[in-house]
Amino acid sequence: MKFATKLIHGGQTVDPLTGALGVPIYQTSTFRQKSLDEFGKYDYARSGNPSREAVEEAIALLEGGSRGFAFASGMAAITSTLLIFSAGDHLVVCDDVYGGTYRALTGIFNRLGISSTFVDATDPTAVEAAIRPETRGIYLETPSNPLLKVTDLRRLVALARSRGIITLVDNTFMTPYLQRPLELGCDIVLHSGTKFLSGHSDVICGYAVVRDEELGERIRYIQNGFGAILGPQDSFLALRGLKTLKVRMDQSQASTVRIVHWLAEQKQVTRIHYPGLEDHPGHLIHQGQADGPGAVFSFELDSFETTRRLLEGTRLASFAVSLGGVESIISYPARMSHAAVPADERERKGIKDTLVRFSTGLEAAEDLMADISAAFNTK
Ligand SMILES: *Cc1c(COP(=O)(O)O)cnc(C)c1O
Repeated sequence: MKFATKLIHGGQTVDPLTGALGVPIYQTSTFRQKSLDEFGKYDYARSGNPSREAVEEAIALLEGGSRGFAFASGMAAITSTLLIFSAGDHLVVCDDVYGGTYRALTGIFNRLGISSTFVDATDPTAVEAAIRPETRGIYLETPSNPLLKVTDLRRLVALARSRGIITLVDNTFMTPYLQRPLELGCDIVLHSGTKFLSGHSDVICGYAVVRDEELGERIRYIQNGFGAILGPQDSFLALRGLKTLKVRMDQSQASTVRIVHWLAEQKQVTRIHYPGLEDHPGHLIHQGQADGPGAVFSFELDSFETTRRLLEGTRLASFAVSLGGVESIISYPARMSHAAVPADERERKGIKDTLVRFSTGLEAAEDLMADISAAFNTK
């Protein structure tokens, strides 16, 4: 089955009770049992709910995993999954990891005895140098946020495997339509389902997907024991959004390519970060591990004044945090996603005060370009 068909017919597509084309919202906390000897498949909805199960099956199938788990947010998925590690364990983490993940690792897990070393994961020798005898996991994001840096997943998987280390990949920016880390040998895929997977800026959710059954059992134990599950209403919204992933991604990506090439011609734009551009340092590696460059890019402007004019001047692209919705979103990493990073550290990482991130929605590319152009030219 091709990916487009899997999105529609891959998981549970028809309600067995009524034939409804769509899994109903099972808004219940508990399930009546038949007898003392015969317990049904469901007992209590933290442990299992048919609405959640439908979206969990779908994400597992799309990522090529054996088990999928849905959580109340991307951060709930990430932090619950990190509970597979124990006090004394060490992680090697890409240095431009999502801000919330950085906060959880340095502010919470560190205190519990699970330590992290942050390295430039685009440099495999830096990752190798950071590995210690107690290193149990390598945590990656590619392309990364906000500079769209590309990490060679196959190469780091080979390194991790040779040391008996687990590889975790946050695949939020790509989605399984464009990149399937489990197929490249990674062990755990994580998602903020809030972004492209759900796609309509109307639900907060997250996923973890694994191929290995034993690892799946461990995460299942944590999901039930820790309890940060996705509710039935949000499971319904997440599954509904997921069905249109391919058409949304195709459209947003095609518009992104056009906008990026147009921006390259604008005098106010000094640099563009997008793995689809041939001069992007990770272009070839990205091409070798993903099926497209995606619909998020960032660019640098000639001055802070231009940056302010753009951020405050666009009418179609909303100045907001988040990404991956049907609406285009323009954001400012220095004061949004990376505000917690000290200014000199930001500068060192290349997150300048003139850097803007753009997530392309489903508006016509012409209108988005006109919107940006008008913002550039406001007085
Ligand atoms: C948004 C995001 C998260 C966190 O997900 P929430 O759903 O907001 O909790 C994690 N990783 C990446 C790459 C994100 O963009």
